[in-house]
This record gives sequence, structure tokens and C-alpha cells, in this order.
Amino acid sequence: MKIAIIGSGYVGLVSGACLADFGHEVTCIDINADRIERLKAGEIPIYEPGLEELVARNVRFKRLGFTTEMAEPVHEAEAVFIAVGTPSRRGDGHADLTYVYRAVRDVAAALNPDRLTVVVDKSTVPVGTGDEVEWILREERPGVPVEVVSNPEFLREGAAIADFKRPDRIVVGTEDEDAREIMREVYRPLFLNETPILFTSRRTAELIKYAGNAFLAMKITFINEMADLCERLDADVQDVALGIGLDGRIGKKFLHAGPGYGGSCFPKDTLALIKTAQDCDSPMRLIETTVAINDQRKRAMSRKVLQATGGDLRGKTVAVLGLTFKPNTDDMRDSPAISLIQGLQDAGATIRAFDPEGMDEAAKVIEDIECCTDAYQTITGADVAVIVTEWDQFRALDFERMRKSMHEPVLVDLRNIYTRGDVEARGFRYVDVGRGRQLPAAPMVRDNVQRLRA
Ligand code: NAD
Repeated sequence: MKIAIIGSGYVGLVSGACLADFGHEVTCIDINADRIERLKAGEIPIYEPGLEELVARNVRFKRLGFTTEMAEPVHEAEAVFIAVGTPSRRGDGHADLTYVYRAVRDVAAALNPDRLTVVVDKSTVPVGTGDEVEWILREERPGVPVEVVSNPEFLREGAAIADFKRPDRIVVGTEDEDAREIMREVYRPLFLNETPILFTSRRTAELIKYAGNAFLAMKITFINEMADLCERLDADVQDVALGIGLDGRIGKKFLHAGPGYGGSCFPKDTLALIKTAQDCDSPMRLIETTVAINDQRKRAMSRKVLQATGGDLRGKTVAVLGLTFKPNTDDMRDSPAISLIQGLQDAGATIRAFDPEGMDEAAKVIEDIECCTDAYQTITGADVAVIVTEWDQFRALDFERMRKSMHEPVLVDLRNIYTRGDVEARGFRYVDVGRGRQLPAAPMVRDNVQRLRA
């Protein structure tokens, strides 16, 4: 099947490469000429494990190509995927659909009038966007056979290829049987693996994507608040997470306490869902609260560092290990590191930082930091080291070497990748997230302890 993909970013490029690997003939299109030139030269403009080999293989077999020109590939394609960005609209938090509508108008001009084309929306878009897209296509090209399908993407950066090729489910929103048949053909290799495919109405499919992200953001926020409580009560949030996560109704995933969620999806998608819900007078109060708590949390992380260093960061140097919102990506969008570093700088600290893949992207969004080339260079002379992103290479740091080169041996581990006993035994002061008391005990606990001792 011939497929055109509009937008060659994280989703478009991964989807295009994987669909080509399924055997389809795919053209990835982007308005960013520099990105397309790099792709044509065999250079992958984003960091995603395994993507370079996958792209190279499919280019070699002539199943994957790149262009800035939409007309021919769209004219020839049976399925045209829209995978452009839908960032938060400045000022009000609604999803900004400018890129989607621009892409759709360009697609309209190139549609083949002689047979059905399915325009598949893979971008995360508010409920009703598919209706609007259909209206634009029918207005621009009256009488041309076209169906608009919602097919939200659930891949995670860092594990995107595996997620695309072995998804938990595929959601396809359309009630048109011909369009469903084309979508079955697109994903045929996955049916053979017995991947569940859920056919729904278009609006329902659009909502499923937001509901999924909002739920996951809420789950993370729940365990983060639980971590704060654990710090007050001298309990261990990791054991709490395991204790509840082993309950099949709850599940173990997304119960890792940390500095708050970030990334290219959760922050913008929760905001967009809140706006949609408010607009139709059915507010999502749980999600509104989730967003507020998460925003506060990201700022609160700098206070944790402040406490670890004795309450004054003026003139001190903080070594930040990890900048991207999670490991195995170079994506800095809404990374918790941004608010953390801002808070530390406001408190008077100098920042040295290192990320294995995110330094170039970080330089675009964070100012006045000293960029380092590895963890040990970063911590040299620092008064405190802070692990913000749990890259594998930070999981086995040489503490002896660190202690000798740091000004003060203090480690703030915002991802709980070490254990207190191990780190303290190596002469460090250690602060983690929610694993035992970090602040003076809450009065209730103190009273009980005193009563027990009496
Ligand atoms: P991205 O910013 O990495 O890529 C978008 C690409 O679209 C850019 O290269 C841009 O130049 C291109 N583009 C914009 N307008 C265009 C046009 N008119 N014609 C051709 N190309 C155009 O974005 P992304 O992270 O891939 O996200 C795309 C969509 O997928 C968003 O709606 C996002 O919410 C959703 N999504 C993202 C992820 C993720 O992990 N990144 C996961 C699931 C869903």
C-alpha cells in the first residue's frame, strides 16, 4: 500500500519507518527543508534508539523516502497520515491546530479524485477536529472521495519502535466500512500478532487519546503526592507503590515518584482536555487538580536541593545530571529540569549540567548553564549533584571518584535510582523522593513515637 505521512517528527518518522518495515511504500513529508535534507543524507534529526538502522534499512529497500513536496505522494497514497505537532496554544492552553489545518489544506489540493483516500489523523487533537478536517476537505474538493479517520498514537519516546510494532492496542475512529478496510490493511501485520484493534466513532477515538494521557498524568501525580506524605510519615513510597501496584486493579506501571511529569504530551494534553471539558460545561476537576499539583511540584524540587545544601544556594554550584524529560530521548519539551534549574538559579546557584543526548535541545530552552561532557566533569567542584533524568549511565556512578572531586559530597536523587544506605556508606549526604523522613516528623508521628518510647 502507498502511504504518505505529513510531519516527520517523533511520531511521523517512527510511524513512517515502521509502516515501511511492515512492507508498505511510505513517503515522509515535512515543511522543514533542513530536516528532510538531513533525512535524505541518512541523518536522523531526533534521538530514538534503533531508528537510524530502521530508517536506513527501509530506505535501502526503497520502501521509505523523504520530501518537502506533498503533491505526488499524496496523490498516489491510499492513506495519508497527519502527524504534525499540536502544541498548547499560547495564552489559553487549547491545542493549537494551526499546523493540522494547514497540512489538511495542502492535502486537499493533492487528493486523487478517482479513488478513495483515507486521511488519518495521528496527531493528538481535541474531539471534533476530525469533523472540522472533513468539512475542510469537502469544501476544498467537493465530490472527491475521502474519509477522515482518527488513529491516535500511543508510542512512548525512548521505546517508540517497540511501541509502534507491538502496541497494547490500535484505536481506529471511523464508522465508514471502506475506511476501516483500508486501516485493517495498513495494520495487517499487527493483526497477525493478535494486537487488539478497537473500532470506535471518530470522536470517541479522539477522546481515548486524551483520556489515556490524563489518566497516566493523574497516576504519576498520585504517587508523587504519596511520596510527600511518606517523607512526613517516615514511610517508603516505593514499597507503597509496590504494595498497591501488585493489585491487578491498580497495576505497577506509572507509580514511580519523581520530580513531576513533563515531556511533549502530558502537559499539553492535560491542559487541552481541561479546556475542552470547560468549554462544554463538564469540567474535569481531577485533571485540573493534577495539573496544578504537578506545576507546583516541579518548582518544589529546587527547594529540596536547597534543603540538602543547608538552605542557602548563593555562591554554590549545582551539578545537574540529566536534562531530558526521560531517558533515551533528546526531547526537552516541558522537562522538569527546566523549572528546577530556573528555581536553582533564582536561589543564586551556578549550574553545571550534562545530558547524554539532550545537550543541543537543552541549549535552546535553558540559559546560563555550563554544559559538560560527562557526569564526572559536571560534578567537579560542585556543592551538590542532582539526578534529574534516570539515564542508565547514571545508575553506576563511581562514588569514590565523585567524593574526591566534589566540593561537598551531597547527592539529591530525584529518580530514586540509588538506596540511602549505599550512598551514605560512601560518605555522601543523600536526599531522595519519598523514601523515609526528609523533613522534621509530622506532629502526629512524633507523638506516637514518644508514646511508644515512654
Ligand atoms: P514534532 O514536533 O516532533 O514533529 C512535527 C513535525 O511536523 C515537524 O517536523 C514539523 O516541521 C512538521 N510539520 C508541521 N506542519 C507541517 C505541514 N503543514 N506539513 C508537513 N509537515 C509539517 O511532533 P511529534 O512529537 O511527532 O508529535 C506529533 C503529534 O503526535 C502531536 O499531536 C503529538 O501530541 C502526538 N503524539 C506525540 C507523541 C510523542 O511521544 N512525541 C506520542 C503520541 C502522540
